[in-house]
Amino acid sequence: MSPTEIPVVVVGAGPAGFAAALQLRARGLPVTLLEAEPEDRVRPGSRALFVHQESLRLLDEASPGLAERIVRHGTVWPTKRTFYGGRQVFARTYPPAKPGRLPRFTSLRQIETERHLHAACLAAGVDITWGARVVTAVPDERGVSLGGAEGQTWRARYVVAADGAHSAVRKAIGIPWQGKRSEGFHVVVDIADRGPGAMPPERVFHYRHPALGGRNVMRVPFAGGFQVDLQCGQEDDVAEFAEPDAVRQWLPEVVDAKYADAVLWVSKYHYLHVVAESLVDTHRRVLLIGEAAHLFPPFGARGMNSGFADGSAAAEAVATALAAGGAAATKAVETFDHARGLAARYNSDAARTALSHMRPTSPLMRWRQRAAAALSPVIPRMGSWLEHAPYGPRAGATPSGKY
Ligand SMILES: Cc1cc2nc3c(=O)[nH]c(=O)nc-3n(C[C@H](O)[C@H](O)[C@H](O)COP(=O)(O)OP(=O)(O)OC[C@H]3O[C@@H](n4cnc5c(N)ncnc54)[C@H](O)[C@@H]3O)c2cc1C
Repeated sequence: MSPTEIPVVVVGAGPAGFAAALQLRARGLPVTLLEAEPEDRVRPGSRALFVHQESLRLLDEASPGLAERIVRHGTVWPTKRTFYGGRQVFARTYPPAKPGRLPRFTSLRQIETERHLHAACLAAGVDITWGARVVTAVPDERGVSLGGAEGQTWRARYVVAADGAHSAVRKAIGIPWQGKRSEGFHVVVDIADRGPGAMPPERVFHYRHPALGGRNVMRVPFAGGFQVDLQCGQEDDVAEFAEPDAVRQWLPEVVDAKYADAVLWVSKYHYLHVVAESLVDTHRRVLLIGEAAHLFPPFGARGMNSGFADGSAAAEAVATALAAGGAAATKAVETFDHARGLAARYNSDAARTALSHMRPTSPLMRWRQRAAAALSPVIPRMGSWLEHAPYGPRAGATPSGKY
């Protein structure tokens, strides 16, 4: 028996998939969301902390009140500091958002953001099937046939693939990555910190931390704790920095020793900067979003935030395509591909620029950073450059004005 045709299936209940499902519901479309993992899964770590104002606005458009719930849960760090070789070269404290306005960003663990997105999807009537791993996707002129790992079948007119970095849908439709892997690795440590005696909510970036052999270290607060990110080089030994025992050894060099007993999660990452060769299939029926479409190093917080913008653009394209049909439908999907492909390549280049600043390979860049640090007490612009460069060009700026 052939399966009933569904107007649109979203594959993957990560932040991008939840956002796309909400945006589709906001346009009045029934949505089936297929997720490989069970509903009671525990997703690891803080991962994407930073939810940009533009993302909050997009999410709130789709689900009024959602931004406020996320903001209420998150934290906004008012102060940013940058150090070079142990000496402060930049510090700024920002005023709080005006009452009734969205803050410039909010910071909370990705699992918490996902919890709010999941609840909003349920309230909006998204039909979520947990434990449904998609293994095949065959598009044709009229739609897409999906197959599940347990022999299930689905037939959709459009598929929004948000199944993450190892996207089975992207592979099934034969779209390769373009780009490469960054050198070295990062160790990311989540630390619980709340109540009296908690550290001030400051984001602190150390270039060439003297107690860690000149490696860069960043501390980023989130609601209920903070994340420490240690940047290791190609030649560094994973066991020496990324094993939990190793973390307990080096952590007291950058934060109070008491935090060695408050570690929630440790992970090691190699960063890729890759973009799918195309964000749509040749029949214009599958739209790739989020990490199914692109992977960036996290500096500049472009990963999850661009997934939200992708989800919104994909929903708009699918809604237009379903309403219009024919050539206008094809055009709507191609417009999505063009706009979000440009944004992905812009974000990828921006993250690469940021990374080349964080890991200078040229002696000239190293010299410029040293000189800027030396001059920063008399030329504040130099400290400001050191502060801003690790995030690449202005966050939120892409050719389409969104992440
Ligand atoms: C250390 C670190 C820090 C980061 N910090 C930031 C940050 O500050 N800001 C930011 O914006 N981003 C950040 N990111 C990136 C962010 O975590 C990712 O961009 C985000 O998780 C991607 O969301 P997604 O929905 O595209 O994919 P995922 O979160 O990977 O979700 C994919 C979903 O699809 C499901 N799935 C997979 N395969 C299938 C299948 N075959 N069938 C059905 N379901 C499937 C998975 O189970 C999962 O639920 C960070 C990442 C890391 C590693």
